[in-house]
Amino acid sequence: MYANFQQHLEAEISEIVNAGLYKTERIITSAQSAEIKVNNTQEVLNFCANNYLGLADNPELIAAAKSALDTHGYGMSSVRFICGTQDLHKQLERAISDFFGTEDAILYAACFDANGGVFEPLLSENDAVISDTLNHASIIDGVRLCKAVRYRYENANMADLETQLQKSQEQRFRLIVTDGVFSMDGNVAPLDKIYALAEKYNAMIMVDESHSAGVVGKNGGGVTERFNLRGKIEIITGTLGKAFGGAVGGFTTGKREIIELLRQRSRPYLFSNSIPPMIAAAGIKTFEIIRQSNVLQDKLHSNTDYFVSKMKLAGFDIKPTESAICAVMLYDAKLSQTMARLLLDEGIYVTGFYFPVVPKGQARIRVQLSAAHQVTHLDKCIAAFTKVGKELGVIGK
Ligand SMILES: *Cc1c(COP(=O)(O)O)cnc(C)c1O
Repeated sequence: MYANFQQHLEAEISEIVNAGLYKTERIITSAQSAEIKVNNTQEVLNFCANNYLGLADNPELIAAAKSALDTHGYGMSSVRFICGTQDLHKQLERAISDFFGTEDAILYAACFDANGGVFEPLLSENDAVISDTLNHASIIDGVRLCKAVRYRYENANMADLETQLQKSQEQRFRLIVTDGVFSMDGNVAPLDKIYALAEKYNAMIMVDESHSAGVVGKNGGGVTERFNLRGKIEIITGTLGKAFGGAVGGFTTGKREIIELLRQRSRPYLFSNSIPPMIAAAGIKTFEIIRQSNVLQDKLHSNTDYFVSKMKLAGFDIKPTESAICAVMLYDAKLSQTMARLLLDEGIYVTGFYFPVVPKGQARIRVQLSAAHQVTHLDKCIAAFTKVGKELGVIGK
């Protein structure tokens, strides 16, 4: 039987290759950081990690993880409700809800699981989910798993959201769902306006703060902080895999009863292993560090402002951003790949994105800033962009 299936798979793979969509992986042989070693030899500056606060190789996090290995062991070999809950898991959940100003929090193995397990236990066929079209894949999958009626609105388009709210008036409970920051453009969800519409139409809100937590807002509290809505949003999901240390793990935080019901019914929580104690311990340390001071948040914000303004001055077309994501617009798919390759030769590691990851004719290079970057790193990156940009005719000579 496999011979036929193998042929079928080989055909599918060739199709991906022929469409120019085959993804390869570069091998990093150092820790994740601003300066990394790629393919064993090349030293490059990393501008494509979600390491927003530069915590991925932070010595305090590493020490906390090592110490937890000694005190709490390596793995839990259990889900939370059987025998997989340690004091560290409860402390981390408390740290998360304190940070976001929410009532409780529940941990998952990843934010993909948090989003996969949030809709189905809470909403039924009498209810509605109203989702931004650019929401993350895990939200789309999570919504598919629940029976609620689905409505979609154009990215951050409040007129369309209002239309969908009007269309869904009949449904019992309605949940508006949005990413906090949209990963391809770096724009922030207009949560103040979403909140006003939710009030007007008696709907609830869920925000996925994966790209915004640690990044947006003076203290890094995400878009809920940015729009003064701390404690007012019913559901927030997020990841420990980006700004918060970059290892692994996700969470849902918000209203007490919502979290309580998720602990009873959310399938990725009930049927998947607890996060390892060292991850929980490093997570606790992460929140300690970013609550003690704003040094990292401030550095990220100043790095982003510096980079974006210098790139605009150099003549690049930059998407309006309010996050640590800077989309350098090139429009042409092939150009985005050529430019990323030439930048790598200059020691700058960035990724070019094109259809279907972004709309047709909207190819770009996405630069991600980090508190780990020094100004010298930013200058080197801007100089490389300028050199390659001139060579390729992206900007004037
Ligand atoms: C990265 C991301 C996720 C997935 O997070 P993991 O913890 O890596 O599974 C979910 N939602 C959004 C918006 C993201 O950007």
